[in-house]
Amino acid sequence: MSGHLAVVGLGPGDARYLTAEAVEVLGVAQALYGYRPYLDRMPVRPGQSRHASDNREERARAAAALVHAAQGARVAVVSGGDPGVFAMAAAICEEIESGPPSWRALDVTVVPGITAMLAVAARIGAPLGHDFCALSLSDNLKPWELIEGRLDAAAGAGFVLALYNPVSRARPWQFAAAIERLRRHLPPSTPVVFGRAVGRPDEQVSVVTLDAADATQADMATLVIVGSRETRVIERPGRSPLVYTSRAVAEVSA
Ligand code: SAH
Repeated sequence: MSGHLAVVGLGPGDARYLTAEAVEVLGVAQALYGYRPYLDRMPVRPGQSRHASDNREERARAAAALVHAAQGARVAVVSGGDPGVFAMAAAICEEIESGPPSWRALDVTVVPGITAMLAVAARIGAPLGHDFCALSLSDNLKPWELIEGRLDAAAGAGFVLALYNPVSRARPWQFAAAIERLRRHLPPSTPVVFGRAVGRPDEQVSVVTLDAADATQADMATLVIVGSRETRVIERPGRSPLVYTSRAVAEVSA
């Protein structure tokens, strides 16, 4: 089968964050599939068709792209950030696993991109400088109790947390509940970084302490990093602070 499907990460923001590999793959694609705002970021090319869909239609988009690739086309599915982090690459794999055997014969490539947590971390210093984990707070595809259990386990084990999907219109209370949960494990002075629309013109990055963190500081375009006991803030005259997590851990905390 000659069809080819590439799942391409666009990075967090404008074209500066595209890798050279992503530019190359997007340049030769005959059809582009993705969430409309991502497709709108890309230059129109003659002979390249565009198939925009809504944010929530990931499985249908994945299936449509696979059907198109199976017809012999060179298809690219785009994702913000990295396609393997809470995004389209897993949706494509889910469809291949449950789809017709012919989809397993397709040439599938995943092209990595800069994921939001790395872009936010880079803006502020090195909050992910030691052990960390990434969690999506979306309970669209998993029960909220599971998320709470993972927050307890991760904060209890001393990981810095990168929280994706902190809030959405359909999920108004989850972020406040998550912060409340983390306060059981971490001191009130723990640094919390809010990085919004990083890499875009409306980018905003702020640092607060865990006792002052609340849901009004986050929206759908925000990635939140909650520090560990080793995360520190270096104040600097006339410059924004540096937040970092020390690579050395002196002792096991109770
Ligand atoms: N595949 C994406 C993540 C998709 S989940 C990636 O690798 O970055 C969507 C979540 O990602 C958002 O709710 C937000 O938490 C985060 N996010 C995506 N782009 C962002 C950006 N430019 N700045 C801050 N957070 C972002």
